[in-house]
Amino acid sequence: MKNGVSNRLIISGIEIEVVRKKIKNMYLKVSAHDGKVSVSAPLRTKDEVIINFVRSKIDWIEKKKIKYEKTCMQNQLNYVDGETHYVWGKPYILKINYDSRGRIDLVDNKLIIATDIHSSKEQRERLLMNWYRQQLEERLPKLFEKWEAIIGVKASKVTIRNMKSRWGSCNTRDNRISINLQLSKKPQICLEYVVVHELVHILEPSHNSVFKGYMDSFLPNWRKIKEGLL
Ligand SMILES: [Zn+2]
Repeated sequence: MKNGVSNRLIISGIEIEVVRKKIKNMYLKVSAHDGKVSVSAPLRTKDEVIINFVRSKIDWIEKKKIKYEKTCMQNQLNYVDGETHYVWGKPYILKINYDSRGRIDLVDNKLIIATDIHSSKEQRERLLMNWYRQQLEERLPKLFEKWEAIIGVKASKVTIRNMKSRWGSCNTRDNRISINLQLSKKPQICLEYVVVHELVHILEPSHNSVFKGYMDSFLPNWRKIKEGLL
């Protein structure tokens, strides 16, 4: 029984893998890898207890599943006509225009990439990523100017990076801040939140109550905005 005993339960329409093993508490997990939901529970936990536990967390599970599906969709982009791409939180339909080269335009609900007919998926992706970077470069200086004045700190350097697992980072030894390129796909308020969050790290490196206190005073609705960044 080294790996525990596993069985499956369907709770509120969601398939849950239950693993009973020698542990003290129950744990719930939505895999970022395949979106599967699992519960680890102490050996003699009754199904009923597990069902109630999962039901009490159903909102959280659903949020995680939506996040997983969104990430999946965005990872499978092929840069072809008809795909949905996001700019500042708004969906646009991709249209490849073969007339000219290397331009990106937003027209109504269309994101138009003007590129060579033989361009590869990678070339189109690079074009769009450069364009996303420009969108951030246009907005970041003003945001930093505004919030550095309010918070009373200064970033020594701001870098835009395409990051997989975080929206931003702050090296508190030398106050260098990185901002995730992917934020150009989210509503602009999310970018502002990340700027504030990273600048506040200059005052307080960890996410403790002092940090949260600063966030509450500078950006009172930060928790709500953070939810949208799931
Ligand atoms: Zn942080």
